[in-house]
Amino acid sequence: MNKVNWKFDNTYLKLSKPFRELIKPTPVHNPEIIIFNDKLAEELNLDFSKLNNKELSNIFSGNDLPKETKTLAQAYAGHQFGHFTMLGDGRAVLLGEHLDNKKNRYDIQFKGSGRTSFSRGGDGRAALGPMLREYIISEAIHSLNIPTTRSLAVVKTGEKVVRENLLDGAILTRIASSHIRVGTFQFIASTQNIENLNILVDYTINRHYPELSSSKFKAYDLLKILIDKQCSLVINWMRVGFIHGVMNTDNMSVSGETIDYGPCAFMDHYDPKTVFSSIDKFGRYSFSNQPPITKWNLARFAECLIPIIDKNEDYSIKLASDLIDNFQNIYEDKWLKMMKNKLGLFGEDKNDKKLIDDLLDWMKKNKADYTNTFCNLMGINSDEFFKNDDFNDWKNKWKKRSKLNNLSKEKQIKLMRKNNPIVIPRNHKVEEALAAAEKGNIDKMKKLLMILNNPYHNHKENKEYVMSAPKSNETYQTFCGT
Ligand code: AMP
Ligand code: MG
Repeated sequence: MNKVNWKFDNTYLKLSKPFRELIKPTPVHNPEIIIFNDKLAEELNLDFSKLNNKELSNIFSGNDLPKETKTLAQAYAGHQFGHFTMLGDGRAVLLGEHLDNKKNRYDIQFKGSGRTSFSRGGDGRAALGPMLREYIISEAIHSLNIPTTRSLAVVKTGEKVVRENLLDGAILTRIASSHIRVGTFQFIASTQNIENLNILVDYTINRHYPELSSSKFKAYDLLKILIDKQCSLVINWMRVGFIHGVMNTDNMSVSGETIDYGPCAFMDHYDPKTVFSSIDKFGRYSFSNQPPITKWNLARFAECLIPIIDKNEDYSIKLASDLIDNFQNIYEDKWLKMMKNKLGLFGEDKNDKKLIDDLLDWMKKNKADYTNTFCNLMGINSDEFFKNDDFNDWKNKWKKRSKLNNLSKEKQIKLMRKNNPIVIPRNHKVEEALAAAEKGNIDKMKKLLMILNNPYHNHKENKEYVMSAPKSNETYQTFCGT
């Protein structure tokens, strides 16, 4: 099989037993490749061009494993909706780490590949709809220039999975810079094995933050850098109106990538309380709760590191608490900068925050589409909706403030165009594509993916993809999707 150019180097495998279980994917009955990401394969320096669909189906179902792999399920724990639970890959296996030509390291993981010792009551499988959904949204997030895991392929297994209905089973091949989660640290910390905790810190630094490898305060510095990374990630989500939906600590990667696309969705009209997930009854993971929840998750990460930040526990707690307490300051600075970028504002003015808050208030009051409001300001969307006195008053203030830029209008628009997507994966368009794909027609999904591949471009073909959701979509709900 190595005409494909796999270059595996499995360092996670070398970690000691508690970190993982060695297990193979359970072969499936009749695999059929549904979608394959040629562009991503190329970026990974993998070449599948000489393989036919049957061969691809066998590879990406796990029926025909590359011989350099030794598959494993990773152990982790996590706070799910605030409750601590032992978890682990209950329906996924890691094939190993593939190195591209520049020696960048990528985890190759099958999701939906059968039971493991972490499956608890689950069947170890995944359904086609949710796997295609992860494919669409993760690739869209990547094209929006937001760090994320990627999707290389989805195969149908030819077997049914039992959910509320009988559904087609499927396996997603997920690519990630690693699958080390906050929950991985929680799992190791819960075993109270300090040696393993240090090993995990070293491993994480080696893999993601080599600049810290000669630090004398590795645990402290790792916490500090992760606070910054996660803060930048959630700022990016706030920039494009993305709601992750299930920000449990096991779904938070220490690489700073978006991971685990379950009930996630993009906000249409601006409302900070927006929640799509059917199980998020109290809005724990609502749009505006994402920053405080990021901080909460980081505090759980900090707790894991207390035994190794400093020998003196009280001092360790103080150091960690000071870092966590500073999250709000970092967030506010980054948020202001991000919103100013969306509005094309350079320099500083003491009223900037007020100007932004006024716009958000107007959007909320008028149920304005989050994405399209910024498109209107960029001169791209001239919908009647925006011909509104209050909005015009605000615009005049914005134009006055923009004059302080002392820069050309072109420069302002250029900054805005880099920060405001024109097209996002609108919920009704995603559902439409998935409904067709589940019935065997993948064309709509491919077209959607093509459009989402270029979210900052104003393309003629975008038209039907940029319109706000119809009113009937206001009660849109997402499901955990297993
Ligand atoms: P998730 O909601 O995808 O983040 O998954 C949370 C935990 O449940 C992880 O440990 C998963 O491996 C596990 N899990 C989810 N669905 C299944 C399933 N169908 N079978 C076994 N384990 C599952
Ligand atoms: Mg998860």
